[in-house]
Amino acid sequence: MEQIRVCTHAGPGTEPVIKSVPWPKVGRKGALIKIGACGVCGTDLHILKGHWPKPLPWPFTLGHEIGGVIVECGE
Ligand SMILES: [Zn+2]
Repeated sequence: MEQIRVCTHAGPGTEPVIKSVPWPKVGRKGALIKIGACGVCGTDLHILKGHWPKPLPWPFTLGHEIGGVIVECGE
């Protein structure tokens, strides 16, 4: 099975870990983007410090200011 690499944190204060996971199933309205660059903003830093008011699905992939190429998209 083809895989992709992701960078995740296990929880607040942890170091980033790069690992391989199965190629994700792209939803009907979704897209899979091969990331070329990703910014880390103040929100990400607050999340890493545990300053987030709601539970998060750790391990968690931070970064939402991205640039990349769409490699697969839904309908
Ligand atoms: Zn941001």
